[in-house]
Amino acid sequence: MAQRPSFHVNGVIFVKIGANVSIAKTGLLAAVEESISYRATSMMIYTRSNRGGKAKPIEEFHRDEAHALMREHGIVDPVVHAPYLINLASPKEDTWQYGIDLLKEDIFRTAYLGIPWLVFHPGSHTGAGIEYGIERIAEALNIILAEAAEGPMILLETMAGDGSKVGSRFEEIAEIIRLVDRKDRLGVCGDTCHWFSAGYDIVGDFDKVLYQFDDVIGLNRLKVFHINDSKYPFDSRKDRHANIGHGLIGGEVLRRICRHEVLRDMPLILETPEGYYGEEIAYLRGETDELPPVR
Ligand code: FE
Ligand code: FE
Ligand code: ZN
Repeated sequence: MAQRPSFHVNGVIFVKIGANVSIAKTGLLAAVEESISYRATSMMIYTRSNRGGKAKPIEEFHRDEAHALMREHGIVDPVVHAPYLINLASPKEDTWQYGIDLLKEDIFRTAYLGIPWLVFHPGSHTGAGIEYGIERIAEALNIILAEAAEGPMILLETMAGDGSKVGSRFEEIAEIIRLVDRKDRLGVCGDTCHWFSAGYDIVGDFDKVLYQFDDVIGLNRLKVFHINDSKYPFDSRKDRHANIGHGLIGGEVLRRICRHEVLRDMPLILETPEGYYGEEIAYLRGETDELPPVR
């Protein structure tokens, strides 16, 4: 009998929580098996290596077996993260075109896997300026969504603001969305480390940040949240994830964020340095107050 997640599991408020898991060898099936080992209730994958090279054919991802296993173990709303190699803000024609092709391909791969969300990084303008970057990204998305007319919702991930990355201000994300025709296909992915590093005070007043998000973008666009601690301080504009409770956001704050009403129905995905996902998930769920020591 399929085990459906209820609002409470073993007396603990149910949150959809999981981690960035590997597709090595058996594809989606491997990702589900790894997620089960963490007692996760959601998960995120990349459909190809971030080091480039040829992608494993999507038909070899054991999709149907994986979905059956997900149902059996109450893993819901999986997420795909697009390759880092995509840069839709690039002024360089070949880089920009390559990003368009790669994102389009990842949309098809994600759709094949029956996964509703595809997260991507808006891109780096590499000196051409934020306004240029915003328009370039929107232009690319208009091309991509005209050709990949169906499939997952594309989620723009908000950035920490390092380098020349576009999308560290909510206003920049809102402007990209405003310029895209298929707004129905666009959403946003939050990231606690990125928000904190970009200067949104999630430690002092998370509600206030959410109000700001709502004013500028609209909370209805927020679909997935990455839960990471940060190695660098508030407003540092640096993107270095720390294990939960081992960074400058802190375990208590991240746990509170995971239980926030607004995030209750969203997949919450850990992208912390590997090795502690199971313990971190148990901590964030409130099953233990112990955080693992980190090497
Ligand atoms: Fe990301
Ligand atoms: Fe992230
Ligand atoms: Zn990051």
